[in-house]
Amino acid sequence: MSKYQIIDHTYDVVVVGAGGSGLRATMGAAEKGLKTACVTKVFPTRSHTVAAQGGIAASLGNMGPDHWTWHMYDTVKGSDWLGDQDAIEYLCREAPAAVYELEHAGMPFSRTEEGEIYQRAFGGMTQNMGEGPAAQRTCAAADRTGHAMLHTLYQQSLKYDADFFIEYFALDLIMEDGVCRGLVALCLDDGSIHRFRAQAVVLATGGYGRCYFSATSAHICTGDGNAMVLRAGLPLQDMEFVQFHPTGIYGAGVLITEGARGEGGYLTNSEGERFMERYAPSAKDLASRDVVSRSMAMEIREGRGVGKEGDHIHLHLNHIDPNILAQRLPGITETAKIFAGVDLTKKPIPVVPTVHYNMGGIPTNYHGEVVTLKDGNPDHVVPGLFAVGEAACVSVHGANRLGSNSLIDLVVFGRAAGHRLAEVIEPGKAGPNLKADSADLALSRLDHFRHAEGDRKTSEIRLDMQKTMQADCAVFRTERTLEEGVKKIDGIFSSMQDVSVADRSLIWNSDLVETLELDNMLSQAKATIQLADNRKESRGAHMHEDFPDRDDANWMKHSLIWVDGWGGKGGETRIDYRPVHEYTLTDDVSYIEPKKRVY
Ligand SMILES: Cc1cc2nc3c(=O)[nH]c(=O)nc-3n(C[C@H](O)[C@H](O)[C@H](O)COP(=O)(O)OP(=O)(O)OC[C@H]3O[C@@H](n4cnc5c(N)ncnc54)[C@H](O)[C@@H]3O)c2cc1C
Repeated sequence: MSKYQIIDHTYDVVVVGAGGSGLRATMGAAEKGLKTACVTKVFPTRSHTVAAQGGIAASLGNMGPDHWTWHMYDTVKGSDWLGDQDAIEYLCREAPAAVYELEHAGMPFSRTEEGEIYQRAFGGMTQNMGEGPAAQRTCAAADRTGHAMLHTLYQQSLKYDADFFIEYFALDLIMEDGVCRGLVALCLDDGSIHRFRAQAVVLATGGYGRCYFSATSAHICTGDGNAMVLRAGLPLQDMEFVQFHPTGIYGAGVLITEGARGEGGYLTNSEGERFMERYAPSAKDLASRDVVSRSMAMEIREGRGVGKEGDHIHLHLNHIDPNILAQRLPGITETAKIFAGVDLTKKPIPVVPTVHYNMGGIPTNYHGEVVTLKDGNPDHVVPGLFAVGEAACVSVHGANRLGSNSLIDLVVFGRAAGHRLAEVIEPGKAGPNLKADSADLALSRLDHFRHAEGDRKTSEIRLDMQKTMQADCAVFRTERTLEEGVKKIDGIFSSMQDVSVADRSLIWNSDLVETLELDNMLSQAKATIQLADNRKESRGAHMHEDFPDRDDANWMKHSLIWVDGWGGKGGETRIDYRPVHEYTLTDDVSYIEPKKRVY
């Protein structure tokens, strides 16, 4: 690939991604004196974290009694016992300190009368190990918490001596003998190629919601890091668990935060009935997301949906004092007006379950180190490779994430990765030179797509994929839809051989970048639908109608999948498993035994 000139860089650590998790990891590494670069395809404050609305969970106890062990119980139950309890303990125990750290960094939280951080109720968050009433645990900056958090983190990160490579698109990892040695990126602005040699790479590239047609996530959420991991010959974990948020605006897909129900909002069907009382008698509208989404889908399916087509549900906030709405939910008041044409102080908002979060991703331990199954060891650490944030599967969210547990995951594990990097890396130690062919995978793939001359537009193949995932791998799944879906996705994956890219330049070539992103998404679509087809039980967000019960005897295990190939070639997959960590980190809390999950 000598036709591309390469600009070389050497760092101790390269972080890919500048969302909440990437920025926190960048700060953590730089703070410890490691020479750190942060590579990001969009300007940091445009990362999807900016769109988070409802809040960040931590058992501060500002609005009533709370304890980190209660948060842990709720998270384990929310995960439908697929979460690793050592990692969940770490998350919930560290959460309050992580929120105070944000507060001290200047994050503008909403406040109580006493001046403490305001906390609201969120789905699945309860008091007293699931026995008590709802816990007000979700710390909020009105309904723009992610915006406040991301701007705070970006401002703070500038204080440290880290280099930002903004609007650089990471293409592929450099792997040598099972060790990650760096990565190759394309500068979007001028088309120059950059090779980063590093002692460690941290993938903080976010989720892959855009594999689906209707998603609350930004168009940049294409899971590029996950796909790089697959191309490096490593597996992804638990990809069958895709969260549908109950309240995406019908038609537009834009999110109405769960905080709306946390502040007293409720759902009704075409008969005006508050149907959640039937499905979740105690938690009602604040049951966990998978439960509420399924209940809505049942109402629609049984002919009690609202609207001309009877295909959505109403969310009411019109009974709440307009002053409270203006103060606590200003963002969604505006969103409802723009995207649904509704004044929510007067009328209900039309909503429908919409793809929102990926529980699956790159398997890691609670230090953020990427792990894989190797020679019978399910916790083999891949040297030089870390993952944090939505790209990672630690796994704290298991089969279903609780609302407001992602923002806290970003900062707790971003920080944990910083600590670990400082332990395993000797500052300034460059290591052996990279091999001459280290950029070949990245450049041959780039060059291939840049000159692709097939018959199909990127946008057409993308739409095929999104429609298929939406139809065949949705809230309810059956043997028939999944088998059909697997075949269709296989065909769509192969159709990538026939893609065409019209723009051959390297100057801000969005046609090319969207094609690279689509290629990344196709391997993840394959991973998701194949694992969904493989898991013969129902757990958390994976509702398999032909196997409606959770089956702990056979399926209390993490799925792993390897997908090879790119550009529509190859595409062979292999499936294996890792055990769930059925133990805690310390003796301060005991293992939470599985039981039936009711709300
Ligand atoms: C609308 C919405 C509302 C939400 N509300 C909440 C909430 O209230 N509470 C909560 O806990 N969670 C919420 N979530 C979930 C949470 O916001 C996300 O899971 C989280 O922000 C993801 O953060 P991240 O750091 O993993 O990645 P992101 O913020 O998604 O950032 C990814 C980063 O990776 C970079 N990147 C990706 N690919 C490449 C590449 N190839 N090369 C270079 N850079 C790359 C991007 O530039 C970006 O900087 C919400 C999600 C959505 C979509």
